[in-house]
Amino acid sequence: MNARASPTSMVRCCISAIASATTGNGSSIIRPIASLLQRAAYGEFGIHAMSHRKGILGWADTYPAVAKHAFTFLFNQAEFGLGCPINVTDGAARLLSRFGDGALKAKYLDGLTQTDMSKLTQGGQFMTEKEGGSDVGKLTTRAVQDDGHWRLYGEKWFCSNADAKMVMLLARPEGAVGGTQGVGLYLMPRELDDGSPNHYRIVRLKDKLGTRSMASGEIKLEGAIAYAVGRLDRGFVQMAEMVNWSRLSNGVKSAALMRRAHHDMRIRLPTAWCLAAALSICRWRAGS
Ligand SMILES: Cc1cc2nc3c(=O)[nH]c(=O)nc-3n(C[C@H](O)[C@H](O)[C@H](O)COP(=O)(O)OP(=O)(O)OC[C@H]3O[C@@H](n4cnc5c(N)ncnc54)[C@H](O)[C@@H]3O)c2cc1C
Repeated sequence: MNARASPTSMVRCCISAIASATTGNGSSIIRPIASLLQRAAYGEFGIHAMSHRKGILGWADTYPAVAKHAFTFLFNQAEFGLGCPINVTDGAARLLSRFGDGALKAKYLDGLTQTDMSKLTQGGQFMTEKEGGSDVGKLTTRAVQDDGHWRLYGEKWFCSNADAKMVMLLARPEGAVGGTQGVGLYLMPRELDDGSPNHYRIVRLKDKLGTRSMASGEIKLEGAIAYAVGRLDRGFVQMAEMVNWSRLSNGVKSAALMRRAHHDMRIRLPTAWCLAAALSICRWRAGS
């Protein structure tokens, strides 16, 4: 592994991203911090791509899962808000490479695993609906064939990384059976081939308690064009692959966050500062 991949260099890179974004008069720091941290995660370390693309950080092969989760554990101690977008981009690449046909892979796989920020395509994972949270088989989003395309109609209720350039989602093709057996897996791009926006919109962003730096939203599908991925009668089984990797990643990220919280509480911050910060966060959450 090359020197840039060491834990120390990862933390240093994240700290320098924050430091360079917070110098100056302090105005508009959130956007520069977000973009610098994105560059660290996707561009420098390629955490989303290391399971798929060889040569990341000078490593000749793809990385084993345990190495990726070690990077996830380290990175999320510095920045938690990017954890989900990195993970769902990684998961979308995994689904595409496992189940997508040659044409879909040729179109989207390179972007999902890019470390060049100008070519990167972030991914998303839209399953949850008002009718179907834990019980995904109750979802009501329909997929209708129209002039050689699949078009999607319905509403997704909890979409993290809502502005992703492509998402994997579940919908029921017209005429399919009920329950999880009847849902298909689709890839939905944010933009169509001619560069115009696809036919869906973010109705509102979620007012979340945590991970506020990442946009989660409700999305209305109004005839959005999508591509079938793999066998349509195996959509849920295929999506479960992404869900299971997300679960594992969420466990690792939670451990990282606990370690960071413990570290800050015990070592880094004087008690008075902690109390002042906690009070000001409470006031901010209460909207005063
Ligand atoms: C921060 C955040 C990000 C998210 N991002 C995404 C995303 O990117 N994409 C996406 O698709 N979804 C996302 N979700 C939604 C998440 O996947 C759903 O919240 C989850 O599937 C649960 O669904 P629900 O909220 O409708 O709860 P429900 O299914 O209504 O469950 C409510 C409660 O009932 C319990 N329960 C449900 N069924 C049973 C049962 N049969 N037996 C016993 N207990 C049961 C549950 O454990 C839970 O405690 C996100 C959620 C959060 C909080």
